[in-house]
Amino acid sequence: MGAAAAALPSAVRAVEGPRADRSLHPAAVGWQSTSAAPMVYGLRRFPYPYRAMLALSSDADSQTLRKFNLVHRFINTKEATPIGKGLGLDYADSFFVYTANDQRHIVDEVGRVPLQRELSYFLGTSQSPYGAKAIHVYIQNGWIDTLHTYGDFSQVDQHTTRFRRQLAAQAVAALKANGDVVDVWTDHGNRSNVDNFGARGRGQFYAYQQGDLPGSPYYHTDLTIPYGIRFVWPDISSNVFSRPSVVFPLRLADGRRVWGFWRYTNERYTPRGAVVWNWTPYGLDEQLSEPHLARLEADGGFAVVAQHLCGTPYPGVLPKDAVAALERLARHEQSGRLLVARTSRLLHYNVTRDHLRYDVTHAFGRTYIHIRAVDDPVLGRHVPTLDEVRGITFYTDNPRRTVLELGDRPIDPAMVVHYPSDGVHPSIGIRWYPKDTADHAIDVPGVS
Ligand SMILES: [Zn+2]
Repeated sequence: MGAAAAALPSAVRAVEGPRADRSLHPAAVGWQSTSAAPMVYGLRRFPYPYRAMLALSSDADSQTLRKFNLVHRFINTKEATPIGKGLGLDYADSFFVYTANDQRHIVDEVGRVPLQRELSYFLGTSQSPYGAKAIHVYIQNGWIDTLHTYGDFSQVDQHTTRFRRQLAAQAVAALKANGDVVDVWTDHGNRSNVDNFGARGRGQFYAYQQGDLPGSPYYHTDLTIPYGIRFVWPDISSNVFSRPSVVFPLRLADGRRVWGFWRYTNERYTPRGAVVWNWTPYGLDEQLSEPHLARLEADGGFAVVAQHLCGTPYPGVLPKDAVAALERLARHEQSGRLLVARTSRLLHYNVTRDHLRYDVTHAFGRTYIHIRAVDDPVLGRHVPTLDEVRGITFYTDNPRRTVLELGDRPIDPAMVVHYPSDGVHPSIGIRWYPKDTADHAIDVPGVS
């Protein structure tokens, strides 16, 4: 077992199945030792050459279409943009369905856009489309992968709310009808956001969360989980930047089960223990510091970094040190150390890698790795799709004589990649998602 493989969770090590014992294998009984089938040494933690994976998870607060487009052109494309040369990173955003915030401030100085016109699927709490067309396009092409709750329901008076179950029902119906399904949910805002869920039982503060509470007028997870939500960030802070895994099983108040996940939200606490959030563009330099990124890569960890990238009202949106921090992140990816992936892809990869079941057989000098299932302890054991196993990489003596199979059928060779030794072993893997640096930005008349 290689050093890297030994670092994997025991569940992964235990599934090597029939060991590559050459002395018992027909191919090894022959007269040429060169015909011996390659040994498989378990999973590489991340697709070659990367040592770690990071996602930017940005909440839709104060978003306008103008700011959204500006930020995504800079982060996702390789164009010359007003912020700087595009970074070409895989980054997906979040969205609101409704806006009902009663605070008074300007979210975009360009056009003096009031908070009540921040980007959301519907106008206010109506059923009239507002940002729906743009949000639809972005969900389809991968610039949005997260539902930041049903809407911005934050109120000045946190004892009141404008959320109702009916709004969730209407949202689910509309999103489904338009094919706008995402599987990541992040909680939002203050205690008026009673549709939040996932942290009841973690303390008195979280009693405001009623989204998963049967009998409550704000109960909706009986609609929301069947809609397609699989991963939930339940409004929990963390100052841990790098984790071996960011997901954890989460049982909701109604008994439904989803994956919870951690986001890095702060570095420090006040002397009295209050969280000092660093999840605005002003905190990006601290979040994506060189020590953080180096530690993440040394750990071989995952990081999901909570942000509000459209959180400032300024024409250029991102301050200089935030731009520099994102450029630093891009350099880490370009160097082959850190894979930057949209949140949904990171979470799926995390679950698949940690719960992959496979066995290894040998015949005529070749080794066959049969991927059997993802033994998902939360959502159930299942045979993965090809997209689900993208990035899965195995150490082997000889990639050219190793065959990757889904069950007992070879995986399309166009999807299989061979890698040289990274200092531990050579490897063979299923291709990660192709880079998409296309400019998907659209303008919609009447939408700020
Ligand atoms: Zn928010």
